[in-house]
Amino acid sequence: MILEGKTALITGASRGIGAALAVGLAKHGANTVITDLDRQSDELAKVAAQVGETEQKCLALPLDVTNKSVVESVVGEATDAFGQIDILVNNAGILLPKPLEELDEKTWDAHFDVNAKGVLLCTNAVLPQMRQRKSGRIINIASIAGRQGVPTQGHYAATKATAITLTRVYSQEVGMDGITVNAICPGIILTEMGKNNLGSQENIDHWTNVAALKRLGDPDDIVGPAVFFASDLSNFVTGQALNVCGGIYFH
Ligand code: NAP
Repeated sequence: MILEGKTALITGASRGIGAALAVGLAKHGANTVITDLDRQSDELAKVAAQVGETEQKCLALPLDVTNKSVVESVVGEATDAFGQIDILVNNAGILLPKPLEELDEKTWDAHFDVNAKGVLLCTNAVLPQMRQRKSGRIINIASIAGRQGVPTQGHYAATKATAITLTRVYSQEVGMDGITVNAICPGIILTEMGKNNLGSQENIDHWTNVAALKRLGDPDDIVGPAVFFASDLSNFVTGQALNVCGGIYFH
């Protein structure tokens, strides 16, 4: 129960990595505020029920991370409910693969709105209370794509490189107030996004074979690193980006 007495707010938590993190952080003692787009409210309620089995408190709220006023009001509501937010997990993300030459502006903007601006808006909304308390944990779910882009993911990779850069700069801007900011760079995780991205069994077999551990990731594989960054175990770690990819990328 290393996170006992802490409250974590997680974005994009109705399925995949976000849902696994909600349940995983709760299993380690955290109360959770789980959020996702309004259209995912039924799925979010199912995650809330799963979290409920851990006996930690859970509040489910609709949140579009691209909308500044909604972000601020959700952070306010969550803070009223739990007293404070100790941990923010910026997990919401989108990936619509397309070669750069075929990419329309709308798709480019949508990726930067969710994957980059969303990190900025949610982080800025929780920082004032964290600065006041001289304590806080920000965890950005980036991607190994942010280290090295691959064809059809240039725009996505650019947003994830931005998330890693924001992690490094925020860490230096807020570290004096006892706040750490770290990123997790998942490899290929078999969520809806991961499966859509892989597309074919051939691709699954290829990347499984490339991985040092000879398997692709499960959302639960992200929980341990997130608990590390969320807890006192990582008190002297900030501004870092940790690859959690089963050994498919090494830099
Ligand atoms: P996922 O299954 O697609 O879940 C992402 C969730 O975010 C969905 O519920 C989605 O809702 C929500 N979302 C989209 N736009 C949003 C917005 N504007 N505000 C709030 N929520 C929004 O994805 P995942 O695989 O769990 O990925 C989670 C994070 O890990 C993402 O940041 C992703 O880039 C990163 N990641 C994933 C992988 C992988 O292989 N799966 C690898 C590296 C990094 P809708 O479906 O309704 O849009």
